Amino acid sequence: MLLTTHLACAVRNKATVELTIRPETHSFSCRYTLEAAVSPGPFLLTVNKQFTVAKVTGAALRAYTATPFFDNYQKDTLRRLTLQFANAKPRQTITVEYSGKIGERYYTDSLADFTAQANWLPTIPNQEYELVDYHLTVHVPPAYQVISTHEPVRATPGTYTFAGTGPNIEITAMAARRFTKLASTADQVRVTLYKANRPFNANDTLLLADAHKIIAYQNRQFGSKDPIRTFTFLLPSINRSASGLLDNAAVIAYLTFDTKDPGDLMILAHEISHKWWGYGVWNTYDNWLNEGFASYSGLLYLKAVGDTASFQKELTKRQKSAATAPALINFDVTKYDYPSLRRVIYDKGAVTLFELHQRVGDAQFFRILTETAAAKVATTQAFLAIVERQTNRATRDWLATKLGT
Ligand SMILES: [Zn+2]
Repeated sequence: MLLTTHLACAVRNKATVELTIRPETHSFSCRYTLEAAVSPGPFLLTVNKQFTVAKVTGAALRAYTATPFFDNYQKDTLRRLTLQFANAKPRQTITVEYSGKIGERYYTDSLADFTAQANWLPTIPNQEYELVDYHLTVHVPPAYQVISTHEPVRATPGTYTFAGTGPNIEITAMAARRFTKLASTADQVRVTLYKANRPFNANDTLLLADAHKIIAYQNRQFGSKDPIRTFTFLLPSINRSASGLLDNAAVIAYLTFDTKDPGDLMILAHEISHKWWGYGVWNTYDNWLNEGFASYSGLLYLKAVGDTASFQKELTKRQKSAATAPALINFDVTKYDYPSLRRVIYDKGAVTLFELHQRVGDAQFFRILTETAAAKVATTQAFLAIVERQTNRATRDWLATKLGT
C-alpha cells in the first residue's frame, strides 16, 4: 500500500472508470483513465490476464507493450503493460480500454460482481491499495440496478455514477436485477445492507444488529480517532468468501451467514475492523498489520460478548498453527504457499498481539491499537515505534524478538 509520507503528501492519483456490464453474456467492457504521478523510466500497470486490452492511449504516450509475467506473490501469470512517455512530466494521463468475461465466481443469472476480489481494474504494481480519487460510471441494461460502497451521486435507469476516494483495487460496482435494502441508525452510526435478488431473512436482520454492536465496540476500543459513522454491507448472494474494504464497507459473499454462529460473528468483526487495518503493504510480511490485526480484532470481539469458550477455542487453534510457523519479520511471502502465509501473517500475527495484550494489559494495549489505527501504520517498524512510545524500550525489544523468531 506504499502510503509513505512522500506519497501521502503528494496529489492523489485520479481514476475515471467507465464500465459497461452485459449481464446476459457475463461480459463487460471498461475504459479506465488514470491521471498518475510517474517517476522517470517506464510506467507499469498490471491487468488481469483473462481480459483483452483493446487500446492504450495518452497525450504523451510514445509506445507500450503488453507481456505476461509470473507474479511470485499471487502465484499466477498476470499481464503487464509497460508504457513509455514522450516527455518527463511528473504526472501523466493514460487510458486503457479493455473487455472480457466476468470470472466464474462473480456472476449468476441475475448478478454481476465487480468487487476487489474480481480483480477487474488495472493497477500500478505494489500500489494496488494506494488511495485514488475516483469517478465511476456504470452502464447496465435498464432492468438492472447498480450499488457500490456508498450511494450513487447520480442514478438514471441504466446509468449509475459513484464518486469517492478509496484504494484503486477496491473501486466497487455490483449489478443485480433487484437489491433489497435494509438500513438502520443507532448511536449516530448508519449501517446499510444491500442483498442481491433475494428477500431478507432473520439472519440479515441479526447481521445488521450485530454490526451495530461491533462498530460501537471497535469505535470505542481502537477507532476513537477515526470512528466508523457509516458502513455498507454488500451481499451478492454468491458463495465465495467475505472481505472488508477500507472504505467503510464489506462484501459478505456467503449464501448462509449466521452471526449466532461464533465463527461467523468473528468473521464479521474481522471484516469490519479492516476499516482501520488496511494500510500494510499487501504483498510483504507487513500484511500482518492488516490480517494479523483483523484476526485479533475478531477474537477480541468474541471475548467482549462474553463467549470465552469460543475465544479460547479460536485462540488455541491459532496458537497451535503459529507454534511451528517461520519468523514473521522478513518472512518472504513469495517463497511459501498460501497455507504457510496464513499461518504466519494471520495466525502468528494474531497470537503475537494476544501476547502483547497479556503483557501490557487492556489500557496500554488499546492505546497502542488506537494510535496504530490513527497513524494508518504501514510498516512493522512504525508499529514497533508506537509500542515503544506507549510502553518502553524493553517491551518494544521483546515484541521485535517475538516477531523475528
Ligand atoms: Zn482479513
